[in-house]
Amino acid sequence: MKYSQKLLFTPGPLSTTMSVKEAMLVDLGTRDIEYQNVTKSVREKLLKIALASKEEFSVVLLQGSGTYAVESVLNSFVSANDKLLILANGAYGDRMAQIATMSGLNFEKKDYSMIRSLDLAEVEKAVSESDATIVSFVHDETTAGVLNDIKGICDICRRYNKKIICDAMSSFGGIEINLEEVKPDFLVTSSNKCIQGVPGFGIIYGRREAFEACKGNSKSLALDLYDQWKYMEDTDGGFRFTSPTHVLLAFDQALDELEAEGGIPARAKRYRENQKLIAEKMTELGFELLVDPDEQAPMITTLLVPEGLDFADMYEKLKAKGFLLYSGKLPKYNAFRIGNIGDLHAQDFIDLAQAVKEYLEEAKK
Ligand SMILES: *Cc1c(COP(=O)(O)O)cnc(C)c1O
Repeated sequence: MKYSQKLLFTPGPLSTTMSVKEAMLVDLGTRDIEYQNVTKSVREKLLKIALASKEEFSVVLLQGSGTYAVESVLNSFVSANDKLLILANGAYGDRMAQIATMSGLNFEKKDYSMIRSLDLAEVEKAVSESDATIVSFVHDETTAGVLNDIKGICDICRRYNKKIICDAMSSFGGIEINLEEVKPDFLVTSSNKCIQGVPGFGIIYGRREAFEACKGNSKSLALDLYDQWKYMEDTDGGFRFTSPTHVLLAFDQALDELEAEGGIPARAKRYRENQKLIAEKMTELGFELLVDPDEQAPMITTLLVPEGLDFADMYEKLKAKGFLLYSGKLPKYNAFRIGNIGDLHAQDFIDLAQAVKEYLEEAKK
């Protein structure tokens, strides 16, 4: 192999199983019935794991990374008569505002601390005072790894008659979400996060009436959510344009592996336990957590870079040993992140902590 395999402690793309990778070793035709049945079955499995009824909800797949899916929803659902309120507590909320600006949407953004979960009283204040018709927010803000109360925020939005767009990119599949209870108009995730597939498409859950409401709004052809959905519905699994066939095969396998693990509750338990484990081990080694453990999502652990530590050097040394940390910088803090999602198990975190320990001892000399 041209590249050596490493363990990815990054919040997507992430470490996948060999069997997920192997599922890609076949070429299927994008317009062939055998392949369309894969898409059909994937969509059915997706509704099932979201505990969503076919009558009320539908799900559509869209080529591209998660951002393409978020852009597709914003660009197609927020019509000329709508106003969007973005509740932002991190980079992904900011990205929504960037999309809204470029798509020429009528919107306002409220900013909150990126190291805290959104406070429900503050959310209620913002939502009740706004003349927006649609509210958007991020469930697990992967920037610092804080978890927002999806049910609490959606309940508030509904009470004030606002439609809801939720970016659950890095949480869906790794935390229990009951779509029938939360009832967002749209909820977005992607192939390469907690369902543990490889990158290549976004997943957009939506209420059927919300998909219908998108008709004719999009100013983009490729990102027209209504068109993508309608075509997939009418053809029972067809993509409008070339589909990431290999990625779909890997994803189908990943869904089966999620079920074999015991479904989302079992996976959520593994992530929570591993997050606790690595947070504990790193604290023992003298690192400080940036986020209060009560508000920390199980997907990622954010640690402050201690005085005198050369993070870039530690990153390279750990990489040479096969451990890839998440090097992306946080806007305001000198911090780094360890992703907990993917095909990673307790022993992997124990091994990582041991490698960090050895690095620190070496660096002291
Ligand atoms: C990963 C992620 C995205 C999408 O990022 P892409 O790089 O486009 O896949 C969006 N929102 C959140 C919260 C994420 O974690």
